[in-house]
Amino acid sequence: MSTPIPNIAIIGAGPVGLMLAAILHRNGIQAKIFERETSATVRAQGGTLDIHAETGQRALAAAGLLPAFKKISRPEGEATRVVKKDGTVLLDENEQERDPRVGDGEEEEQEEGGGEEGGRGRPEIDRTDLKDLLIAALPQDMIRWGKGISSVTPVPGTQQWKLEFIGSDSTTTSSADDSESGPYDLVLGADGAWSRVRPLLTDAKPLYSGVSALDVWISPAQLAQRPDVAAFIGRGSCMLLSEDRFLSLQRHGDGSARAYAMVRTSREVCGAVPGAETLLGLDRDGGEGDDNDDDAAVVDWTDAKTRERFLDRYFGDYAREARDAVLAMTQQPTLRPLYMLPVGHRWEPRPGVTLLGDAAHVMTPFAGVGVNVGMMDALELAEGIVAYVKRLGEGEGEGGKGDLAEMLRDYENGMFERSRKDAALTARMLEIEFGEGGPEKVVEIMSGGGPSS
Ligand SMILES: Cc1cc2nc3c(=O)[nH]c(=O)nc-3n(C[C@H](O)[C@H](O)[C@H](O)COP(=O)(O)OP(=O)(O)OC[C@H]3O[C@@H](n4cnc5c(N)ncnc54)[C@H](O)[C@@H]3O)c2cc1C
Repeated sequence: MSTPIPNIAIIGAGPVGLMLAAILHRNGIQAKIFERETSATVRAQGGTLDIHAETGQRALAAAGLLPAFKKISRPEGEATRVVKKDGTVLLDENEQERDPRVGDGEEEEQEEGGGEEGGRGRPEIDRTDLKDLLIAALPQDMIRWGKGISSVTPVPGTQQWKLEFIGSDSTTTSSADDSESGPYDLVLGADGAWSRVRPLLTDAKPLYSGVSALDVWISPAQLAQRPDVAAFIGRGSCMLLSEDRFLSLQRHGDGSARAYAMVRTSREVCGAVPGAETLLGLDRDGGEGDDNDDDAAVVDWTDAKTRERFLDRYFGDYAREARDAVLAMTQQPTLRPLYMLPVGHRWEPRPGVTLLGDAAHVMTPFAGVGVNVGMMDALELAEGIVAYVKRLGEGEGEGGKGDLAEMLRDYENGMFERSRKDAALTARMLEIEFGEGGPEKVVEIMSGGGPSS
C-alpha cells in the first residue's frame, strides 16, 4: 500500500469533472484536475443546460452550491414553445400565467424569498455560468489547465496509474510533468465523449446517432436589434419538429440566442458518419480523433446567401418566422454530429480507474438529461470516496486497495443501471422527435403523457 488517503487524478474539467472535484473539496478531500484546454474561456462553451431537481441540483446541493446556482439560473428559461413547421403553435408556455419555477425538494437550501414551487423543476443555466460557478468553488491550483492526458498506464506490481501528457514523451518530459504524472490510486475519467481513459476499461466507441446539428448563434447586441426573433423564441426555447428535421432555438442568460438546426442524415446508428461529413460544405467537428471543439466552418456563414442556401436545402418548408430566426444568427457556426455509446453499455471493473459523465455514457441531447446523469455520477462517486476516506480515518476496513476497488465497483453498478434508463429514454426521444407526428407527441409528453425512464 502506498498511502492511505488515495491520490486522486480527475481527467477533464467539464461540468462533471468539476462537479466531482467540488463535492470532494467540500469534504476536505484533495484531488488534481487535468484539463486539455488552457483556460475556461479559451473557446465558446455552447448552449444552455437544464439542471434537474432530482439529479443535477442534488449534486450542486452536496457541493454547497445550490443557493448560488439559484441566483444565476433561469427558471423562466423553462418556458417552451412547440411549433409545427407550418408555424402552427401547439404549446406556448410563455402565455401561461404562472412562470415555470424551480421545484427542487431542497427547501432548506433555498435563499430567503426564493421562488414558489412549480414548473418542471429544471431551470436553465448557460454552460459557461455553470462551469464558472464550479470553478469558483475550487482552490485556484486544483485545475491544471493545458494538461491534456495522452495515456494512462499501470504502474507494474501495484494497483496504481501514471499519466502521460499530450505534447510530452518519456525523453522530453519536464520535471513539472514528472511531479504531476503520478502515481495515482484513483484515475477518474471525466474527459467526455472521446475519453482517453475509456480504453483502459472497454473497447466501445461512440456511434454516430444519425443526426447532425448545425450550431449557430446571435450575439446579445444583434438580438437586441431583432425583437421579432426574441419574441418568436420566447423566454426559454422554441422547438420546431418535423420528420428527420428539428430546429431548436434557445435564449441564453447573457442576452444571446442560439439555434441547433438538426438533420437526420441516416436512420441507422453506426460507426461512420454517412453523408454527414458536411452539411452544406461545413467540415464536421467533434468526431473521433477530433475531440477538439474548435469551430470548423469552411464556408462564410456571415454571407446571407450561405445561410439562405442552408435553410432552403434543409428547412425550405418551414414557416417564415423560423427561417428568419436562423437567418439572423450570423455568428460563425459549429457542426456537431451527435454520437452515443450503445444503450446499456458497461465494462468489467478495474482497480483504481473509472469513468463518469459523457466518458461513461455519452448520449444525444434529445431527452435533455446528459449533464444531469453526469452530475449524479459525480455525486455518487464522491459519496463513495468520502465514505472510504472516513472509514480509513475511523480505522475501519482494511484501508487497502481491496476497499477502494469495492467502492468503485459499487459506484459503477449504480451508474450503469441509472444511465441505462436515461440512455434508453434518450434513444426513444430521438425516434419520437424525428418521426411522424413528432410535435404532437412531444406536447403530449410534456403534458405528462410519458415516455419516462
Ligand atoms: C448540442 C448539445 C446540447 C445539449 N443539451 C443538453 C441539455 O440541455 N441538458 C443536458 O443535461 N445535457 C445536454 N447535453 C449533454 C451535455 O452537454 C453533456 O452531457 C455534458 O457536457 C457532459 O459533461 P462532461 O463533463 O462529462 O463532458 P464534457 O462537457 O465533454 O467535458 C469533458 C472535458 O474533458 C476535457 N478533455 C477531453 N479530453 C481530455 C484529455 N485527453 N485530457 C484532459 N482533458 C480532456 C475537455 O476539454 C472537456 O473540458 C447537450 C449536448 C449537446 C452536444
